[in-house]
Amino acid sequence: MKQENDLHQDLIQWFQIHQRKLPWRKTYEPYHVWVSEIMLQQTRVETVIEYFQRWMESFPSIQALAEAHEDEVLKLWEGLGYYSRARNIHKAAKRIQEEFSGELPRDAKSLSSLSGIGAYTLGAISNIAFEDPRPIVDGNVQRLFSRLFDWEEEISKKKSMKFFEEKSLELNQLGKPRDLSQGLMEMGAMICKPKNPNCNGCPVQRHCLSYTKGTVMQRPNKQKKQSGIPIQVILLVFQDGGEYYLEKQEEKELWAGMWSFPYFRIPEWKGTEEEFAMVRAKEYDASLWDLLPMKSFRHGVTKYKVQAIPYVIPIDERKKFHGKGKWYTREQLNELSLPKASVMIRNALEQTCF
Ligand code: SF4
Repeated sequence: MKQENDLHQDLIQWFQIHQRKLPWRKTYEPYHVWVSEIMLQQTRVETVIEYFQRWMESFPSIQALAEAHEDEVLKLWEGLGYYSRARNIHKAAKRIQEEFSGELPRDAKSLSSLSGIGAYTLGAISNIAFEDPRPIVDGNVQRLFSRLFDWEEEISKKKSMKFFEEKSLELNQLGKPRDLSQGLMEMGAMICKPKNPNCNGCPVQRHCLSYTKGTVMQRPNKQKKQSGIPIQVILLVFQDGGEYYLEKQEEKELWAGMWSFPYFRIPEWKGTEEEFAMVRAKEYDASLWDLLPMKSFRHGVTKYKVQAIPYVIPIDERKKFHGKGKWYTREQLNELSLPKASVMIRNALEQTCF
């Protein structure tokens, strides 16, 4: 117990001195903690700062967020990816407004009943906003604990997560869960880094079992991640003078619920990509005769590694065109919340004359 108390104290002391100054740490307003924690999932702190500030300027309260239109919410999320996170915050804000008088509830049952609040976010809000000790384990904490306690099991195993959660809860219950839980995550991010842990400058080195045993670089025990499932899609960028055609994607599609340039996964196909694009394009306008290839690019979309192959297709007469989507000017495209592939195309259109 004495050892745990010392570890707890060293972590808190380090955090109080070395913590980064971040906008959501100014007041620890529960709404700020909640939004920042959702934004920080799969995104670097440096990137989130600007998004967070813009968000709070537009939606300074849960009420303002609940009353906003979904397009406005998605626009502010543009570029962060995983748009379901933004939709969930918006949905939860409406429920908080209706059922909890506009205040983020404090009890775990109500909190975890809100859209998008899973075990990790529940832990973050409870510890950081309300100082209620709960386990909170992210990738940084998994790595730090694997080393501190020289945990040999593969980290994605259930028993590993159970061990990390127990340790996290034990430490948080010793007091100051706000500083302790952030201290653990921050230590993992800044000192106990994956490739170059700064053991010589580490405030908890004296507690670290893997440092003593010389197993630091073997921890965490982590199986190699499978890279995303590769898929190829063509994107059709129909152009009518200064206007472009977009379609709202179905819920089960790659960019569910968002406006995007029409896209098609390339199936088993014996011809060239260009021929495939032309076959698809003619379903919109039989009189088409030209495709202008843009630079293809790769990027990750949820579990997929997408190779995007866009073509600009000038059309002659709008009345011959059949499509259920809408036409947008370049200015309107800039206002819309688009998925990353469409943003990359929009940016390329700005730099090129077609
Ligand atoms: Fe991580 Fe090294 Fe500190 Fe151990 S001593 S917690 S391995 S930085």
